[in-house]
Amino acid sequence: MNVDVAVVGGGPAGASAANELAKKGLSTILIERNLNNAKPCGGAIPLGLIEEFEIPDFLVERKVTHMAVRSPKGRLVTMSMPNGFVGMVRRERFDKFLRERAAQNGAVLLEGKFRTIKETDSNYRLLIDVKGGTEEVQAKYVIGADGANSKVALDLAFPPNEFKAVAIQQRFHLCEELARYENLVEIWYDGEVSPDFYAWVFPKADHIAIGTGTEDGKANIKHLQARFIEKLGIQAKPYYEEAAKIPMHPRKRFVKGNAMLVGDAAGLVTPSNGEGIFFAMKSGKMAAETLVDHLKGKGSPLSKYEKNFRKQFGIIFTGLGLMQSIYYRNDRLRESFVAILEDQHVQQISFDSYLYKKMVPAPLWVQLKITAKNLYHLAIGK
Ligand SMILES: Cc1cc2nc3c(=O)[nH]c(=O)nc-3n(C[C@H](O)[C@H](O)[C@H](O)COP(=O)(O)OP(=O)(O)OC[C@H]3O[C@@H](n4cnc5c(N)ncnc54)[C@H](O)[C@@H]3O)c2cc1C
Repeated sequence: MNVDVAVVGGGPAGASAANELAKKGLSTILIERNLNNAKPCGGAIPLGLIEEFEIPDFLVERKVTHMAVRSPKGRLVTMSMPNGFVGMVRRERFDKFLRERAAQNGAVLLEGKFRTIKETDSNYRLLIDVKGGTEEVQAKYVIGADGANSKVALDLAFPPNEFKAVAIQQRFHLCEELARYENLVEIWYDGEVSPDFYAWVFPKADHIAIGTGTEDGKANIKHLQARFIEKLGIQAKPYYEEAAKIPMHPRKRFVKGNAMLVGDAAGLVTPSNGEGIFFAMKSGKMAAETLVDHLKGKGSPLSKYEKNFRKQFGIIFTGLGLMQSIYYRNDRLRESFVAILEDQHVQQISFDSYLYKKMVPAPLWVQLKITAKNLYHLAIGK
């Protein structure tokens, strides 16, 4: 099969890229190894994503307006979002919808496992293992959207995905003892349940998802999860368990020749909160738009995608990276961090930047007040 673009991986990044390319009339193939895939994921998405990518209401199982953050010593800071909500989706439904939308707009959807890619003088040759044999695809451009362990990136010798965390999540049926979480996201900063990240409770339509994360190889993730369930005091048993790696650091480079990496394959998950769905979809869309401009003879190189992405979101990655490296180091610092979150302005800035990924500078007096509070809480350790 000959196409303009081969997109490998049908998660949010690949499906968004394929959708955009197909809409603009490029012949596009979207290759996904398992069309019933359920990517291990909390499925929390910001309002800005729902609006920009026109996510229909039936996919957003919960619109959570309340959040509680808990410190190692048990200080609980509760907040509500007056101007928005955190949307909760289930990835098995969400990803399927995005892929099908891309197909409706003209992308060819192929179920098969991408095996290898070779660059020739004029194009890329991809081999795909499909039911009953091997499919060869020839493409002028390739988009690697095959997740944190991207084989496309490996075959095309991109710089490695550097920092990989690992996260686990268990699903519990909604029941009386979990009813308190129906409209509440709860986040725990506590070294016993995560020595360098956080643990979470997310509500879905028919279940509560509970999970934790840590830097890969640093601690036993199963033990951390067991301790979290124990500390939450939950007696119910999970009916489903899922785990996967999270890259949390952009690769040194994610455009090479006529190939681009998007989403987890490019390492586009923010430190500190592990958010990746928005950045996957946004990077997929930006890569596709750059490619369309490039082909329309506007002379824009593909590297513009990477440049624009870093320009728009680099500050968020840097800011959140700094926050994680300062506050997630030990329980004393985590205690200070949660104390700072009690400030209304800190809450407002956090929600605004999460919901729409825009860093709006606060007035000078607010910045000074927050700095003073930071220093105070860091000094007293609570
Ligand atoms: C436990 C956990 C909880 C998380 N919670 C959240 C959250 O609440 N909110 C949030 O924003 N982010 C969360 N993340 C991060 C988020 O899941 C990812 O950042 C996001 O899925 C990235 O999307 P993607 O399309 O780049 O990659 P993926 O979703 O990983 O999609 C890659 C796709 O490629 C396919 N694929 C892989 N290899 C091949 C191959 N060889 N051939 C064909 N297809 C292939 C896979 O089947 C998959 O469908 C979480 C991650 C984990 C592990």
